[in-house]
Amino acid sequence: MKDETKAVHAGRDPHNNHGIVNPPVYHASTILYPTYEDLKHPKTRVQYGRRGTPTTFALEDAVVALEGGHGCKIVPSGLSAVTTALLALLGSGDHLLMTDNAYGPTRTFCDTFLKRMGVETTYYDPTIAGGIADLIRDTTKVVFTESPGSLTFEVQDIPAIADAAHARGVKVVLDNTWASPLFFKPYEHGVDVSIQAATKYIVGHADTLLGTITANQETFSAIHAAHGQLGQCAGPDDIYLALRGLRTMDVRLKQHMQQGIDFAKWLETRDEVDFVLHPALPSHPQHDLWKRDFLGASGLFSAVLKPVSDTALSAMLDDLELFGMGYSWGGFESLVVPSDPAKIRTATGWDAPGPLLRFHVGLEALDDLKEDLDKGFQRMKAVS
Ligand SMILES: *Cc1c(COP(=O)(O)O)cnc(C)c1O
Repeated sequence: MKDETKAVHAGRDPHNNHGIVNPPVYHASTILYPTYEDLKHPKTRVQYGRRGTPTTFALEDAVVALEGGHGCKIVPSGLSAVTTALLALLGSGDHLLMTDNAYGPTRTFCDTFLKRMGVETTYYDPTIAGGIADLIRDTTKVVFTESPGSLTFEVQDIPAIADAAHARGVKVVLDNTWASPLFFKPYEHGVDVSIQAATKYIVGHADTLLGTITANQETFSAIHAAHGQLGQCAGPDDIYLALRGLRTMDVRLKQHMQQGIDFAKWLETRDEVDFVLHPALPSHPQHDLWKRDFLGASGLFSAVLKPVSDTALSAMLDDLELFGMGYSWGGFESLVVPSDPAKIRTATGWDAPGPLLRFHVGLEALDDLKEDLDKGFQRMKAVS
C-alpha cells in the first residue's frame, strides 16, 4: 500500500466502531476488569489510562504504518520524545554523541539533565558520516542525529553513521521531524529509534503539542519500558487532533514541498540574500545525499541575508502581513524567525556575516507570500 493510502486508512477500523469513520476519543484513567482472573492476567491492550486507550493505539498504529519500526509510543511533546528516547538508552557513565546542529532544547537537555545524571556528551560535525567511528568510545551508547538540522539544514549520511555505530554496538537515534514520516524512512537507513515532533507536520495546524517515538524490534522494549517508568502519556483530545492532521498530511506536505522549493529558488535570485540552505536545491552542499535518501522536502529552510543593521532587519520583519514571527512550524501558515547559529553550536563554526532567517512556507498563495516579503525587503532597503 502506498503512503497516500496509509495516511487515510491506517489506525482506523470503522466497522468495529458503529461504522463511524474516525476512532472515538476515550477519556480514561481507570479501566475496569470483570474478574479477579482478568485483573491478574489482563487479556487486552487497554489496562490503565496512562498506558494508552484505543485512541492512543490508533495514532501509534498509523505512525508505525507510515514511518516504519516495530512499535510507537506517544508522548506530550516533541521534546519529551527526544528526552524519553535518550533516557531509555543512557545511564550513568555512558557517553553520547550528539550532532552539533541539533534542536536547541535537545542540546540543553544533554548539557543539564544528562550531565547531572553522569552522561557525557560529545558534539560532532553533522557532516562527519563514517568518520563518527573515530569518536566512538567503549562507553558510547547512542549516536543522536537530526537530518537535516532544523536551523542550518545539514543533511547527514545516516547509513554511514549507522554502519559505524552498529559495528560498535551503538544505537542510532534520529530526530526525523523535518522530513515527517513521509519523506525519510528511518528503518530503511539503519536508524534504531526515530522521534517526531508531531506538533509540526502530523498535527499540522499549530494548535497542539505532541511527540512520537518509533523503534525497531531490538530497541522497542527499552523505549516501551522507559515510557512507562517515566509516566509519559498524552491527552486523548490532542491525540485525536494528531490523527485528524495525519489524514491530510500527505497532501499538505506535497504542497509545502512545492511552495518551499519555489520560494527558496526565488530567494536565491534576490540581491538581499547571500545564500539559501534548502536540501532540495542543487546549491545545497549535501544535495546529493538528500536525493539519495529522501523522498521529498518539507516547507522549512533557511536563507542567510547579506549583512544588514538590526534596525533594517526590524523594519523588514515587524510589518510582515502574512509571515508570522514565532517558533515552531509545520502548521498551514507561513512563518519566519531570525536566529544566530553561532550561539548554539560548539563542534563546528558558523561565520556567515549576515543574519539567518528560517522560513516555514505555508499553504497561502505563493504570489502573496512573495509580495509580502518583497515589501519587507523594500522597507529594509529604505532603512539601510
Ligand atoms: C519543534 C521541534 C522539537 C520539539 O517539539 P515540541 O513539540 O515543540 O516539544 C524537536 N525537534 C525538532 C527538530 C523540532 O523542530
